[in-house]
Amino acid sequence: MVGLGALGSAAAWQLASRGHSVVGLEQFELGHARGASHDTSRILRHSYHTPAYVRLTQEAYDDWARLESESAESLVTVVGGLDLFPPDCAISPVDYVGSLREVGIAFEELDTDEIRRRWPAFDPPAGTLGLYQERGAIVPAARGTAAMQRLAIGAGATLLGSTPVTRVIDHGSHVVVEAGSTSYTCLGVVVAADAWTNRVLAGLGVEIPLSVTLEQPTYFAPPDAAAFTDIPLWIWMDEPSYYGFPCYGEPTVKAAQDCGGPVVDPDDRTSEPDQEMLDRLANFMGSLLPGTGPVVRSLRCQYTLTPDRDFVLAPVPGHPAVVVGLGSAHGFKFAPTFGRVLTDLVTTGETSSDVSAFGFDRPGLTDPAFEANWMV
Ligand SMILES: Cc1cc2nc3c(=O)[nH]c(=O)nc-3n(C[C@H](O)[C@H](O)[C@H](O)COP(=O)(O)OP(=O)(O)OC[C@H]3O[C@@H](n4cnc5c(N)ncnc54)[C@H](O)[C@@H]3O)c2cc1C
Repeated sequence: MVGLGALGSAAAWQLASRGHSVVGLEQFELGHARGASHDTSRILRHSYHTPAYVRLTQEAYDDWARLESESAESLVTVVGGLDLFPPDCAISPVDYVGSLREVGIAFEELDTDEIRRRWPAFDPPAGTLGLYQERGAIVPAARGTAAMQRLAIGAGATLLGSTPVTRVIDHGSHVVVEAGSTSYTCLGVVVAADAWTNRVLAGLGVEIPLSVTLEQPTYFAPPDAAAFTDIPLWIWMDEPSYYGFPCYGEPTVKAAQDCGGPVVDPDDRTSEPDQEMLDRLANFMGSLLPGTGPVVRSLRCQYTLTPDRDFVLAPVPGHPAVVVGLGSAHGFKFAPTFGRVLTDLVTTGETSSDVSAFGFDRPGLTDPAFEANWMV
């Protein structure tokens, strides 16, 4: 295993629990805040733009339930999910409605008055369509990742922090993973290095066109926190796109712009909040959720994006023993599922989950003229 964020930790858990000998190597300390799997909340939802994604979310809910059961921890907090499509929005509701319908997931379409009636904290503009799905849920980022690490260790995995992998060499019959002066020889390796994926793969003849952006979730303290405890999590389906949560574990509400941050080098970026991003978000919150209140804190977190925003879950071409897992900045909800899939792929070369869209051979990764579209 290279990388012990959510995806690598999930794969370590799944591999070890199937009886494989596992060493997980993480360049920073376990649980660090320089990648994508720290902090409190992530969205788990059925609503997606294609039937294949919606089907995969069904597996995600099952895999989270299994993680809850094996870890004996409550991890999934169902609060309902509300996708908000303003008039002439950049993200069409047609694909979302059609995909949920095709897979047979129940949802409601709400007009502006009904949204305001159910959750008076929201003040959407006239003509906004609300797509409400009752199973929309919050899963904990750092706590969920730690739970998978604990299960991996309990099943016999060795997880090492502060151990940067410097090279992966595929010898055909086996793979050598070098971490400084120490070499690990193994039958297969899962690379779950997110923003650093191409650095780990250097030497294997592949480069994924990735963009790393520095995002900024912000916590607000609503004076009337009770008004924000029973609201659903929400996504603003326009460009710019925003999302947010009800109160979760503390009397604050978290919100952020999706893909709102600058492109950065993950090894040379700030951890300080950006005032302009904060002002943009606060301005938006003032119009959609006017009682959000003052800012409590902001933090930074990296998005690692493919041009089509689809995942990478596949062996490196020509290197079947080196399997890549990359969540393209919406992968946390699928972490337990990806752990299972990556384990399938690295041990048998196949999986029962439909990950056919997430290979290396698609236009989004191979066509230099492919126009990036992150608003899906
Ligand atoms: C602000 C924010 C909000 C998000 N919201 C959601 C959401 O609501 N729902 C959702 O599903 N997803 C969401 N995501 C996306 C999701 O969190 C990520 O897709 C997921 O956490 C990525 O996990 P990862 O393990 O691949 O990456 P990371 O957590 O970054 O882990 C990769 C690890 O690899 C390590 N590594 C890299 N190179 C090496 C090396 N050479 N040697 C050893 N270790 C190495 C890194 O140090 C790092 O720890 C969000 C992301 C962010 C940033």
